[in-house]
Amino acid sequence: MAKIAINIATGSLQKDEIIVGIDLGTTNSLVAIIHPETKMPVALKEHNTSSLVPSVIYFDEQGNIEVGENAKSHLESHPERTIFSAKRLMGKSYEDVKNNQSFFSYKIINDNTDSLVKVQLENQFYSPVELSSLILKELKKRAEHILKTPVNKAVITVPAYFNDTQRQATRDAGKLAGLDVLRIINEPTAASLAYGIGHNNNQSSKHEIIAVYDLGGGTFDISILRLNDGIFEVLSTNGDTYLGGDDIDQLIVSHWCNKIGITTEQLSKDKSLNQTYRLKAETAKKYLSNASVFEDIVNNVPLVLTKDELEILIAPLIGKTIKCCELSLKDAGIKKTEITNIIMVGGSTRIPYIKHSVSDFFEKPVNDKINPDEVVALGAAIQADILAGNNKELLLLDVTPLSLGIETVGGLMDVLVPRNSKIPTTASRQYTTQVDGQSSMRIAVFQGERDMVKDNRKLANFNLSNIPAMPAGLPKVDIQFLINADGILTVTAKESRSGVFQQIEVKPQYGLTDAEVEQMLLDSITHAKDDIVLRALTEARTEGEQLLKTTEKFLEKNTASLTQEELLHTANAMQSLQMAITMEDKNLIHQKIEELNNISRPYAERVMDQAIGKAMTGKKI
Ligand code: ADP
Ligand code: MG
Repeated sequence: MAKIAINIATGSLQKDEIIVGIDLGTTNSLVAIIHPETKMPVALKEHNTSSLVPSVIYFDEQGNIEVGENAKSHLESHPERTIFSAKRLMGKSYEDVKNNQSFFSYKIINDNTDSLVKVQLENQFYSPVELSSLILKELKKRAEHILKTPVNKAVITVPAYFNDTQRQATRDAGKLAGLDVLRIINEPTAASLAYGIGHNNNQSSKHEIIAVYDLGGGTFDISILRLNDGIFEVLSTNGDTYLGGDDIDQLIVSHWCNKIGITTEQLSKDKSLNQTYRLKAETAKKYLSNASVFEDIVNNVPLVLTKDELEILIAPLIGKTIKCCELSLKDAGIKKTEITNIIMVGGSTRIPYIKHSVSDFFEKPVNDKINPDEVVALGAAIQADILAGNNKELLLLDVTPLSLGIETVGGLMDVLVPRNSKIPTTASRQYTTQVDGQSSMRIAVFQGERDMVKDNRKLANFNLSNIPAMPAGLPKVDIQFLINADGILTVTAKESRSGVFQQIEVKPQYGLTDAEVEQMLLDSITHAKDDIVLRALTEARTEGEQLLKTTEKFLEKNTASLTQEELLHTANAMQSLQMAITMEDKNLIHQKIEELNNISRPYAERVMDQAIGKAMTGKKI
């Protein structure tokens, strides 16, 4: 299948456009490329600076945005305006993150729905996709500055356990940052590529079983991969999404507090001293990766830490990661002895004790020659180079030239199979009905990169009928896309409560010339920004309309249980939401949704309690 490079500015085709590899990390992000002369992967950096860009965004009161090192300094001084760990929110609903609310110092709104989370800064609302796009924009800007050439194409890495929604969100973030995301690849796969595993010219590495141990700033992942004839397969993943280098820093701070005779709570009352201690702890930790004693003095208080002390402190934490490795092997059905490669990823794996522990557990030396905080980005750059067609020795699988998806409420394109997915492939997602008693569902299949289906190409259309009457939202319709090795797409729709079933076959590429595919890609890049703005607006409107509908229904049933004042406030809030929906400002719509929710939440809970009370009194014991 042809790969096409398009110059965004001129629309002309070009052969040797640069494609970068991006590691979009929870703590740090960076960009790498294949050096045009040495043909080796390198991480991009300005003179005398680090290649790592902290994944932190600071919004100041004037509406300016800072990303990276400068933003990091605001973490303690302006916690409510400084966003970190946005990656943890990608593709998540409030339900998913509510148990970790205290981890985030900024406001995550609870809109009582299972839609995706939003972050609120005064009257601005940001989706995790928008936040990640700000980091990607900064990376793009830096790369362009260093390379002195436009950067429009990228391969971005994600954790192996990311689901379809999280991958799609990452893709959208790239698009919003003005990047054409050629492929999303797994972080452990990228790390393996960087170590030369999976290169076709490396005969000995045709069949491998690889363990990738990744301990970053806030998360721990272990992945077991199998490589077979150039194809990486994830056999299992395990880990802890709240365990990383930050916890080690915290342990060191507590250790020092103990020695001085104060509690960490006492220390945390002095924000700036707390910050100083935390930074000193990180410095000490890093220093001890190559030394045996760390000594410093802060405010006349000596702070000392030996390598032995550090090891005792972190032993339980590392023990936990080893437990995860055990579980991961078990899930993969793999014996320790079958592992052919162990790869160390993430800044925290620089700690010698960690390397030893992992090596002791697997009973094999670990691969640690490549800089552990760059290795993922370097692998992404290798993948980018393969996609650019520069690396002929590496196997490139057949891929879908354009995304495939279906139409959802508001005329939005919901992508099931993103473009450049290797085939054969399958993807499925669950949908439900919009109105009560809906007995049929029209399923329209589209091909293309634009966010509104009207701008894409319609491939097929069919009806799933005879759905038994149920309230809106209750039917569960599974839609499955299956593309076989010949590129033939079969779409299946099945309502799982009733078993109603419908299937059709389409040829996605049929009738499209290379030139048409090029044109569709070009359009998607030129319109990426408008598309995403329109998509966010359409989603906000749909959410608003749904809330109006449910509120109306609730009022019809429960008018008698509400006070005059509540009814009046609700009517006003509904009217302003209705008004906001007719305007072009998604922030305004979200604000009005939030207001209406805040008004209705207390009485909705009250009515619910009463209903339960009634049900109880009716029952005889
Ligand atoms: P992520 O993948 O979560 O974005 P990174 O791989 O960039 O994170 O790892 C960041 C973590 O690595 C931080 O906690 C940092 O303190 C830690 N780290 C970096 N260098 C060292 C070192 N020399 N010794 C110990 N820890 C280190
Ligand atoms: Mg990482």
